[in-house]
Amino acid sequence: NKRVKVKDLLASEPTGQEVIVMGWVRGFRNNQFIAINDGSTNNNIQVVVELGMLDEATQKRITQSASIKATGTLIASMGKGQKVEVKATSIEILGDCDAEKYPLQLRNRPSLEYLREIAHLRFRTNTFGAVFRVRHALAFAIHQFFNEKGFVYLHTPIVTASDAEGAGEMFRVTTLPFDNPPRNEDGSINFKEDFFGRSTNLTVSGQLEGELAATAFSEIYTFGPTFRAENSNTPRHLAEFWMIEPEMAFYDLEDNMNLAEEFIKYLIRYAMEHNREDLEFLAQRLAEEEKQLPQDKRSEMGLIEKLEFVLNNNFERITYTEAIDILLNSPAYKKKKFQYEVKWGIDMQSEHERYLVEKHFKKPVIVTGYPKDIKAFYMRQNDDGKTVAAMDILAPGIGEIVGGSQREERLEKLTERMKEMHIPVEEMWWYLDTRRYGSVPHAGFGLGFERMVLFVTGMTNIRDVIAFPRTPKNAEF
Ligand code: ATP
Ligand code: MG
Ligand code: MG
Ligand code: MG
Repeated sequence: NKRVKVKDLLASEPTGQEVIVMGWVRGFRNNQFIAINDGSTNNNIQVVVELGMLDEATQKRITQSASIKATGTLIASMGKGQKVEVKATSIEILGDCDAEKYPLQLRNRPSLEYLREIAHLRFRTNTFGAVFRVRHALAFAIHQFFNEKGFVYLHTPIVTASDAEGAGEMFRVTTLPFDNPPRNEDGSINFKEDFFGRSTNLTVSGQLEGELAATAFSEIYTFGPTFRAENSNTPRHLAEFWMIEPEMAFYDLEDNMNLAEEFIKYLIRYAMEHNREDLEFLAQRLAEEEKQLPQDKRSEMGLIEKLEFVLNNNFERITYTEAIDILLNSPAYKKKKFQYEVKWGIDMQSEHERYLVEKHFKKPVIVTGYPKDIKAFYMRQNDDGKTVAAMDILAPGIGEIVGGSQREERLEKLTERMKEMHIPVEEMWWYLDTRRYGSVPHAGFGLGFERMVLFVTGMTNIRDVIAFPRTPKNAEF
C-alpha cells in the first residue's frame, strides 16, 4: 500500500503526487477540512474534501478519533502554518468512534491524573505522543552509544536467586503446579513460593551477572526491566522500571564518572537533534503549567534552555562529606525546611539531593565517597575505613538518576565485608570466582531509564513516562 506517514507527508514537496493517509481524526471543520494524525508527529495533515463529495451519513461518521483512510493528491496549502495538504479523491472510514462515549472527548483538557486512569488511551494525546516518541528515541540512542564504544549488550536474567542490593525489596516468584494444584481449605489454590523447589525473586539489578561478563568482554551493558517491591507512592519510584547498567573492567571511579556524564549528555544531544519538535511541544506545555505556580516555584529556565545548559557545562563533582556540609550550612536547614534529618551517615533524601542540584549548584551533581554503611557490599572500600568508592548522579527536578561505584576487586576485603553484612559467602561462590580468577579493577553504574526520560521530557511524575506503570495501585493494564 502507498500509505505515507503524516510526518513524512508534512516534509514532502507538493508536486500533486497521489498519496494515501491513514490515521485518526483530530478535527473536522466546515464539513471540508479533516485533520488526521497517525502518531508519527503531533502535527496533523489537513485533508480537504470538496463540498458535495461526502454524503451526510459519512460526514456524521467523521468524529474525533474515528479512523480513516484518505486518498488524494498532495498539493501546496493556502492555510497558515502548513506547507502541504491532501486534496481528497476518496475518503473511507475504517472504524467509527462514538463521540458521546469517547473518554478523551468528554473532558476539555484532561489532567495527567485522569489520563493515568485511562492509560490505554493516553497515547492519543499530544503530551503522551511526544513523551513516548522521546522515550523511544532515547532507548535507541542507548544502544547506539554503547555500540559505538564496542560494549557487548548482555541480557541478564529476570528470575534470579540473588539479591544484588541486599535491600530486601524483591518480588518472590511462585510456581503453580500444572496438574491438580494443591488447594487451601477454602478451595483457593495454594501457590508454592518457589521456582521448581528453589527460592527465587524478580531481579532488582543485573549488576552481579554483568560483572561476570565484564571480566571476559571488558565492557558490557544490560538494558532491561528491573523490579522492586517499593510500597511507596513517590513521583520517582515504580515497582517495575527499566535500567541501563554498564559494567567495565579496567575502569576506576573517575573513568566511571566520565563515562556516565558522557552517556547522559549523549542521550540529551540525541533527543535534541532527533526530537526537537516533541521537546519544543513539551517545553511549551510545561511553561503553560508553570504559569499557574507562584513566581518562586517556577523554574528559571525553560526545558530546552535547561537541556542546552546541561550539555554545555560540566557536572559538579563533590564528596558526600562536602554535600552534608553544604546541607548543614544551608539557609534551608537553618529555617528547618528539610523534612528529614541531615547528618553525616544519612542516605540523602530527594529533598536533600534536589537542594544541592537546584538551589546550591544549579547544575547536575556527582557525589562520591558515601558512607559504606548505606551502600551495597560490592563497592570498593576507601582507605579511611568509613567510605566507599560510590558515585551517585543527581539531576534537577528529580534527584538521583544514577547509582554507581568502583567495585571491590580484592577478594579478602570483599568477603570480609560480606560477612559483616551477613551475606552468605558460600552461596555467592560464583560471584567471588571473578575475584579468584584474574580479578581486575572494574566499575559500573545503573541509570534508571524512566528517571532519564523524566529529565529529558521535563515531566514530573514517573508514571507519565512509562507506558503501563506498575505501582501499588496499578497492575491491571
Ligand atoms: P532511590 O534512592 O531513588 O530509591 P536507589 O538508590 O534505591 O534509588 P539504585 O539501587 O541505586 O536505586 O538503582 C540505580 C538507579 O535505578 C537509581 O539511580 C534510579 O535511577 C533507578 N531506580 C531505583 N529504584 C527505582 C524505582 N523504584 N523506580 C524507578 N527507578 C528506580
Ligand atoms: Mg531505593
Ligand atoms: Mg538512593
Ligand atoms: Mg542508589
